[in-house]
Amino acid sequence: FNNELQRSEKMEIISELAASVAHEVRNPLQVTRGFLQLMTEQEDNKNKGYVRIALEELDRASGIITDFLTFAKPEFDHIVSLNIADEFDHIEGILVPMANLEGGKITTDIPPNLWIRGNSSKFKQAFINIIKNSIEALQGEGQIDIWAYAQDGIIKVHVRDNGEGMDEEALVRLGEPYFSNKIKGTGLGMMVTFRIVEAMHGQISFTSTKGVGTEAVVSFAAFVE
Ligand code: ADP
Ligand code: MG
Repeated sequence: FNNELQRSEKMEIISELAASVAHEVRNPLQVTRGFLQLMTEQEDNKNKGYVRIALEELDRASGIITDFLTFAKPEFDHIVSLNIADEFDHIEGILVPMANLEGGKITTDIPPNLWIRGNSSKFKQAFINIIKNSIEALQGEGQIDIWAYAQDGIIKVHVRDNGEGMDEEALVRLGEPYFSNKIKGTGLGMMVTFRIVEAMHGQISFTSTKGVGTEAVVSFAAFVE
């Protein structure tokens, strides 16, 4: 018992440290981004191609830090009532253009009366990570369906894609830190999503068939006033 306590205290210290380092690193990244952005706006810039890559890589570094921050400090200071349809309006705004770039479509069917308690930005991040993976898995006529409903006091959200799917090994390893099959993957996305869902006392499960597609089901306790 004593050992457990010491371990959790140590974890707490490591979490705090990780969160503050991540915060500190973010500032110089933002400043660098600002100057690079200015360089792309110069008419005579012969190095535009390089600057664009530098910007992309900088954004990738920021993304990794955001994921890591969530992992280090997943508890939420700001818990409110979340309307699922409203949250997905925002999520769609971010991801529909990305899906279109990949030649895919996103369809949502979410009734307006579904509420849970939670942190809005963490909720969005959890689903953005799931749907981004779906987009990245798309091939040919890509389709992603998202739908939600209430069942016995539980809100369930499904995300289904007709992408490349996963084999048994990938399914088992999903959520393991640094597990990725992508050239530029971080392998942090699902770890963060699992952690957020856990902190919100929800549940998440995946089914997948190689070559056919993947379906995620995420559930939370419904909130009734
Ligand atoms: P990353 O996206 O950086 O690789 P993730 O933790 O988000 O890390 O995902 C881990 C791996 O799980 C991915 O590299 C991919 O192989 C697999 N994966 C996750 N979601 C899907 C999906 N919807 N379809 C196919 N493979 C998936
Ligand atoms: Mg991912």
